[in-house]
Amino acid sequence: MSPLHQSPSEKPGERTLAVNPFYGEANPTAGMTDAPPKHRLPDNPLSPTTAYQLVHDELMLDGNSRLNLATFVTTWMEPQAGVLMAECRDKNMIDKDEYPRTAELERRCVAMLADLWNAPDPSAAVGCSTTGSSEACMLAGMALKRRWMKKNADRYPSPEARPNLVMGVNVQVCWEKFCNFWEIEARQVPMEGDRFHLDPAAAAELCDENTIGVVGILGSTFDGSYEPIAELCAALDDLQARTGLDVPVHVDGASGAMVAPFLDPDLVWDFRLPRVASVNTSGHKYGLVYPGVGWVLWRSADALPDELVFHVNYLGGDMPTFALNFSRPGAQVVAQYYTFLRLGREGYRAVQQATRDVARGLAERIEALGDFQLLTRGDELPVFAFTTAPDVKAYDVFDVSRRLRERGWLVPAYTFPAHREDLAVLRVVCRNGFSSDLGELFVQDLNQLLPELRCQPHPFTRDRASATGFHH
Ligand SMILES: *Cc1c(COP(=O)(O)O)cnc(C)c1O
Repeated sequence: MSPLHQSPSEKPGERTLAVNPFYGEANPTAGMTDAPPKHRLPDNPLSPTTAYQLVHDELMLDGNSRLNLATFVTTWMEPQAGVLMAECRDKNMIDKDEYPRTAELERRCVAMLADLWNAPDPSAAVGCSTTGSSEACMLAGMALKRRWMKKNADRYPSPEARPNLVMGVNVQVCWEKFCNFWEIEARQVPMEGDRFHLDPAAAAELCDENTIGVVGILGSTFDGSYEPIAELCAALDDLQARTGLDVPVHVDGASGAMVAPFLDPDLVWDFRLPRVASVNTSGHKYGLVYPGVGWVLWRSADALPDELVFHVNYLGGDMPTFALNFSRPGAQVVAQYYTFLRLGREGYRAVQQATRDVARGLAERIEALGDFQLLTRGDELPVFAFTTAPDVKAYDVFDVSRRLRERGWLVPAYTFPAHREDLAVLRVVCRNGFSSDLGELFVQDLNQLLPELRCQPHPFTRDRASATGFHH
């Protein structure tokens, strides 16, 4: 990038730093130890090379995303996908009229997902891309709320008619956000004993005439387990038979809606269940696209009240849109279409199977170390949670998380919610690009840490909140 030595044309003294002039020139007027201000705009421009190097160097201290076993989000894509994304980074998804082919690719992705999730009439299903599952869940939740409001127009608003949404306590934080932002009461089914997700009967019991819907999670972020969606629908069918309450289900398939169709085709969780009104997924999780793209689909136009949909002009015609954002990048949608085209059903099956195999193999190897107990085994989402065995007293999961960091591995440790606050676990999320070779290196590193952990002095006073980097 820059010469290591001064060029022969320079006279001695003209250059003060012969060895590494690049860093010497970072701020020539102020001297090399003065960095530009970080919390106000600098007074003057920097050269692009200098600005680049400053930002680049600071980012070296970020973790390596491929070794980040905390995230569900795609950290590796084929180079061709990267090229397409670079080609599309200037395209705004909302400009349907200006970028009609990008808009068309979005529509094809929706149609492919409607087919994949067994919509009764895929051509009647409606859906859209979003920035991720969080936005997708907000849209699905808004549709549920609006449907309930219309059905209860004679009672709402009134103090007795406060809408509620039923869910497991293990929901991802986006559902708590949804309830907070849209003033919905969140009714959460607690964990109980070794049940770490929603119980269908307990969920049905929480429903009343103000319930806008029940959220079932295909792939809990806490432990990677699938919630029993078919049983949930059956419990709500039974509720309807007993009470007349007709409560729709939204499936939060942020991860699982792109795993189960390929690996568990006999598991009935999707639009095959008439009670399932809508489904979301994160294109950037097991949809295998870099962040941020998500999807939300409704089984038919009836499930999405039309007054929520805005109509934009599209090639002189009418293009319905439903989104929180206006502007949004088009590159991720293009990358999703590329991945659908590139892998097809068989390719997705192969990738997800390889990932599940890595997860199951790794879970078994960790169990075999003797110090740990598995909560889940990586056989639903390729994700598993484990904790220390009861006889392990010298260290806890927070110590393991911290020590793994020394080797570059990012593995979150966290405590469980209501009724199982006593339980602290480590969670490993396997993804495309986390090969069995890397998994082997991970077990070796963990195994090498154990002798030190077993004889570490204890107990420390630990600041648990800051010991982890868990984002659920
Ligand atoms: C990740 C996740 C979300 C949030 O999705 P983003 O794409 O990160 O916005 C919601 N629900 C579940 C179950 C998740 O795993």
